[in-house]
Amino acid sequence: MTLLSAVLSLVNVKVRFGWSDKSFTSLLQVVHNLLPEENTLPKSYYQAKKILCLMGMEYQKIHACTNDCILYRHEFEEMSKCPRCGASWYKVKDDEDDNSDENSKKGPPAKVLWYLPIIPENIG
Ligand SMILES: [Zn+2]
Repeated sequence: MTLLSAVLSLVNVKVRFGWSDKSFTSLLQVVHNLLPEENTLPKSYYQAKKILCLMGMEYQKIHACTNDCILYRHEFEEMSKCPRCGASWYKVKDDEDDNSDENSKKGPPAKVLWYLPIIPENIG
């Protein structure tokens, strides 16, 4: 694995499970310690992001329907659930009733895809 693809996969997991930046940094520190001393893995989320930027990876997060029907862009940007299957954009926190204040109930997006420009060859 190249450094870039390693960082990308880790960041992807972070986003997918809605980890906080702080918990992700802790994970990176653990992984860093598991690897040989000369490894160049970032030790914090901040460093990880910096690596992606240095590589010209202007990555974008795109929220998607959990069932892969649509991406929440363009005409779907303002919607709170999938127009095709009705799945909620955000994971619904399962405490109390569903009909109270919508915004305070928003969990992490149900599904996040990463859009990346084509990865140039010979990286890493
Ligand atoms: Zn859907």
